[in-house]
Amino acid sequence: MHLELTRRRLLAAMAGAGIGATLPLRAENPMDKNGKGARRKDSVGVALVGLGGYATHQLAPGLALAEHCHLAGIVTGSPEKIPAWQQKYGIPDGNVYSYDDFDRIADNPDIQAVYIVTPNDLHKPLTLRAASAGKHVWCEKPMAMDAAEGQAMVDACRANKVQLAIGYRLQHEPNTRRLMALAREKPFGRILKIRADAGFNAYDDVDPADKPWRLLPQHGGGAMYDMGVYSLNAARYTSGQEPVAVTARQEVRRPQLFEGVDETMHFTLEFADGSVAECATSFGQDMNTLRADCERGWYELSPFQTYDGLKGRASDGQTFADAVRHQQAKQMDDDALAILGRGPQLVPGEEGVRDMRVVDAIYASARGGGRRIVL
Ligand code: NDP
Repeated sequence: MHLELTRRRLLAAMAGAGIGATLPLRAENPMDKNGKGARRKDSVGVALVGLGGYATHQLAPGLALAEHCHLAGIVTGSPEKIPAWQQKYGIPDGNVYSYDDFDRIADNPDIQAVYIVTPNDLHKPLTLRAASAGKHVWCEKPMAMDAAEGQAMVDACRANKVQLAIGYRLQHEPNTRRLMALAREKPFGRILKIRADAGFNAYDDVDPADKPWRLLPQHGGGAMYDMGVYSLNAARYTSGQEPVAVTARQEVRRPQLFEGVDETMHFTLEFADGSVAECATSFGQDMNTLRADCERGWYELSPFQTYDGLKGRASDGQTFADAVRHQQAKQMDDDALAILGRGPQLVPGEEGVRDMRVVDAIYASARGGGRRIVL
């Protein structure tokens, strides 16, 4: 079982059993150290938008551990979630919003950034609203439904002079960054072939009449948007180049669940130097490997996209598995330092657009029976 899902289920079970309430999160929340709702000049106040699985079990705990940002507000369409969040994280009434009154966030000096963690179809409209409100935007992957939407988000943030960062947490992770450095240093010669596979087997127990948004096309469902962007992003950062052509083919094993969304996608990226990346993603198969075959050796990360425990090895016998305290805390601290002007922005909106451009080509190729699309 994919670790992301396993953790989600474990944490949901813990929350159900009341175990989550015993986690020592509040002691590390900068808002608490300074009293409820207090502002700190050296810490970015963040509002989480969409209090689902990822916000609840990864981002909020990550914000509680972060040093340069803190959870200052919430935006939710589920009023029943509000009391527990306010109580657990010390969020004052004035920092709680619904999707209807979200634009009032413009007047809230406690909140400098909003983190959009909703179904994928809402990423663009919420980003535009946050940018108009003058707030920096952190947006989950995939950044949008297509490259045109992604570019509109970049343009809106630029026009409003706010930063846009995409939640590609792995690009902040030390073992991934080591692999990215290998692409530059080429210790085994030129890369000839990359393999990047990210997926998990799930949804066997879903009622086709009551599908979650990840299985619905109007919300940006499908394996490619959800997990395929890990394979694609990894292929690009492992190569260090942009693909020049794409071919793709999709497979559906459970047609009653996967209507208008992809269950498994195989795609090949061609790079200008003749190297290729063979990639796959799936909601029907566990896969979690990234490998580069080079002229004089190879290296790999496996797993490469879990929340922890990334393991690297190479053909010369070296292994690496640097520990990171909390991937999302690291990601948000990096993004907060960029807002505070004390560090580089590692994953700007433009990086998300580069992926969406390839995602568009992957879908076009798959719809065209595997037609080769030149980028
Ligand atoms: P969930 O379904 O668990 O939560 C989504 C939340 O969005 C809901 O709980 C709800 O919050 C809000 N929402 C608003 N409108 C809708 C709607 N029409 N249908 C359903 N929910 C709605 O999803 P996840 O938290 O797993 O994923 C959210 C985003 O985060 C996705 O873009 C996903 O790709 C990304 N993600 C990224 C991960 C990573 O490792 N970087 C890992 C997991 C997810 P409320 O009730 O508060 O309004």
